[in-house]
Amino acid sequence: MPSWKEPSLAQVDPEIAKLIEDEQRLEARTIRLIPSENYASRAVIEASGSLLANKYSEGYARKRYYEGQQIVDAVEELAIARMKQLFSVEHVNVQPYSGSPANLAVYFAFCKPGDTIMGLGLPSGGHLTHGWSVSISGAYFKAVQYGVRESDQRIDMDQVRDLAKQHRPKLLWCGGSAYPRLLDFQAFRDIATEVGAILVADIAHIAGLIAGGVHPSPNLVADVITTTTHKTLRGPRGGMIMCKKEHAAAIDKAVFPGLQGGPHNHTTASIAVAAHEALQPSFKVYAQQVVDNSKALASALFERGYHVTTGGTDNHLALIDLSKQGVPGKVAAKALDRAGIVLNYNSVPFDKRKPFDPSGVRIGTPAITSRGMKEPEMARVAEWMHRVIAKTDDDKTIDAVRGEVEEFCKAFPAPGIPT
Ligand SMILES: *Cc1c(COP(=O)(O)O)cnc(C)c1O
Repeated sequence: MPSWKEPSLAQVDPEIAKLIEDEQRLEARTIRLIPSENYASRAVIEASGSLLANKYSEGYARKRYYEGQQIVDAVEELAIARMKQLFSVEHVNVQPYSGSPANLAVYFAFCKPGDTIMGLGLPSGGHLTHGWSVSISGAYFKAVQYGVRESDQRIDMDQVRDLAKQHRPKLLWCGGSAYPRLLDFQAFRDIATEVGAILVADIAHIAGLIAGGVHPSPNLVADVITTTTHKTLRGPRGGMIMCKKEHAAAIDKAVFPGLQGGPHNHTTASIAVAAHEALQPSFKVYAQQVVDNSKALASALFERGYHVTTGGTDNHLALIDLSKQGVPGKVAAKALDRAGIVLNYNSVPFDKRKPFDPSGVRIGTPAITSRGMKEPEMARVAEWMHRVIAKTDDDKTIDAVRGEVEEFCKAFPAPGIPT
């Protein structure tokens, strides 16, 4: 084995090395409930920290604009082959730098500025890139936003159909970032077909659940599927676009040279590792446990008097409306953070408060499930949350919970963090 003659990060830059160690400690000692976050494995982190970052390889495997691509081509082809197998799709582009650029590439492939597009509105759990006004997708396109019903906070497919027939969008998005229920991909397909729209399923949040077989897949009905690789999929930060063969050329051209330059080859290698991990039988067990935990956590909070929007969850996340408790989401989130329980404040459907100071919090179980926590642990997490939310300005309670949480976390070592 070759050995290093160069100094290490800690020797060269102790300041940054210490901050990375501090982050390791923070992630090890807290209960992380942000549903878009996870713990990537040591193998995934190693690949994404590799020297493949040194390479420039504009283009695609065997069609590059630079020489020296013998290894990089093999890496990219491996990542693509594994993802094709994992998601049962005809074509995969693993080059998007992240989820938002993947979505932007889809617009570039199918739309012209000013075209009409349709997506789930941000206040209903949609993503900025699906046409929200402050995003480029809302600024450069005529964006129509559908929402959830006030009665049950679920996506109103009648409204989706009515709006689609009225506005005839070029492109129809389904998927979101704060929607706790299954998506009816076939119903979206029928509407897209009726109005002649391209149907794009953005599975950024649920990719790992789909890969693990615990959420229906849009692979047979969507024209295009976009995703991140770092959320429930447990890969490095990155994005992917999957599609039917007929759209492959348009998608590839839109990513490069349309939107991006050289691909992040270290990320591509790490995506291949994540796909390899997700193809193991243990990943199905993981995905099922994510959902089981999410349901257990949501119902434990419900039993303590909390309003869980839609009455529960089908996936990895839930939205808790704290209006009944009279505690603003931000106040709860900040107190919980001090107690070692990390989540984000979030608008709830038809929120009467402002987006910067909304009524709810969003919780999710991908990260804590990666540490091996199961249903009994969810009951404890709910109990700690309840103690803190009931006394957000009581330092004694918060310190006590923080101590218990840190002690508890020791029994669940996190992937990717040395102990
Ligand atoms: C997270 C997310 C994205 C964007 O991903 P980034 O990597 O943060 O750019 C896009 N769509 C949905 C639905 C998401 O949840």
